[in-house]
Amino acid sequence: MAEKPDVRFTQLFIDNQWQDSASGKTFPTFNPATGEQIARIAEGDKADVDAAVNAATKAFSLNSPWRKMDASERGRLLNKLADLIERDREYLTRLEVLDSGKIYREASEDLTDTISCYQYYAGFADKLHGKTIPVDGDYFTYTRHEPVGIVGQIIAWNYPLAIQSVKLAPALCCGNCVILKPAEQTPLTALYVASLIAEAGFPPGVVSVIPGYGPTAGAAISEHMEIDKVAFTGSTEVGKLIQQAAGRSNLKNVSLELGGKSPNIVFSDVNLDYAVGVCVDAVFVNQGQCCSAGSRTYVQDTIYDDFVRKSVQLALRRKLGNPMSPDTDQGPQIDREQFDKILGLIESGKDEGASLECGGKRFGETGFFIEPTVFSQVKDHMRIAREEIFGPVMQIIKFHDVQEVIDRANDTTYGLAAGVLTNDIGTALTVANSFRAGSVWVNCYNAGGSSAPFGGYKMSGIGREYGEDGLRQYYEVKTVTIKVDEKNS
Ligand code: ADP
Ligand code: MG
Repeated sequence: MAEKPDVRFTQLFIDNQWQDSASGKTFPTFNPATGEQIARIAEGDKADVDAAVNAATKAFSLNSPWRKMDASERGRLLNKLADLIERDREYLTRLEVLDSGKIYREASEDLTDTISCYQYYAGFADKLHGKTIPVDGDYFTYTRHEPVGIVGQIIAWNYPLAIQSVKLAPALCCGNCVILKPAEQTPLTALYVASLIAEAGFPPGVVSVIPGYGPTAGAAISEHMEIDKVAFTGSTEVGKLIQQAAGRSNLKNVSLELGGKSPNIVFSDVNLDYAVGVCVDAVFVNQGQCCSAGSRTYVQDTIYDDFVRKSVQLALRRKLGNPMSPDTDQGPQIDREQFDKILGLIESGKDEGASLECGGKRFGETGFFIEPTVFSQVKDHMRIAREEIFGPVMQIIKFHDVQEVIDRANDTTYGLAAGVLTNDIGTALTVANSFRAGSVWVNCYNAGGSSAPFGGYKMSGIGREYGEDGLRQYYEVKTVTIKVDEKNS
């Protein structure tokens, strides 16, 4: 079994220096598998965000090394960072497991995704270009893609390294400066990557990492008058606060990756064992702490009972335990707050008349483990079918025909992801085109990678991350028009 990693960095990272917070305060980070404190971390607040903004302002000034750097050199630095993460991937994997409670196997996949994301955007650095535009009259008009400026990034705890990579990589690719606040539950890997950013050779002030709490450090970012853009991953509730803060302050550009309650629709023509496997994974991956989780499983009435029975079999087969151990399938939930919320929603499911097929309780006596839970006879109006649970809880809902299930699937305030399993190409395309959601998976779930855009319709967010579309939020388009007139030259 992988051994426990040492914690090497616990301070704020500003101007490529490690420092205590201005207030001198610290906060604890815990191991969710045991509830034990791992370390105390410098607690950033407004004064520290101001210091990071000052460093970023200097780094972004017109003749600074960062602004004058060749685009290809920015790409080279991003590749260097990817190489350093690869060098230290075993350490980072274990640090991520320790701080987040993710299982080792999935943390290792996150490392693969993280490295690939830096490499993907490294390649774009010198391929971002404007156009020449044939305007009317004697003019030569061209556009330039310029960095937005100082970007605040506030991120979540469920995929700490992967989310950090899809925040930093496109922002740095486009030449921005970044002030990143990791989630208070999972600051450790973000700080370690900060040390690699300095080692790679990014100039001071280009990236600052400020751990701290949302209503203090996070709010200081979203309200800051000198921050040009804020990118956020987290709950829909906090996404609204971020957008309000942007509106109250300097109308900074806002992009949001928020929650979901994604439908996953199974038609009766499928290979049942395959479909059950896809749908169970779609719910239970990462302890159910996944914004794109396929948490409303719609199953056609003729196969419904068999589908429920086989889903329960797979859920019961999942091995809970030490997340460091290679044969563990499910680790703890991130913290007490999420644990209580999930158990509360399970109670609501029972109270509202859904049928609890398995699970439903705490597992073990230490850590925040919850048994894999499957509900059948779930109705669309129940809280477990409407609210994001963010835990290992599967809702299996019965449907009869295509048009009915499309309407029911879209009857949600969210629109992050959706899935459909069928061997009928007409049904697959009809359903895929009808979903009001940013990502649709057909006969698979959560497939993709750095090159495929991801983001929400409706209250699941604003903007896209990953792929070429993921760059769009990190550059301004400047139009330059020159009079073509030999007499003036
Ligand atoms: P969850 O509820 O799943 O923990 P949150 O949306 O609360 O997700 O947290 C996501 C990120 O938003 C974290 O980094 C958190 O510190 C931050 N955050 C929470 N509240 C605020 C706020 N009022 N302003 C800015 N950031 C916040
Ligand atoms: Mg919260």
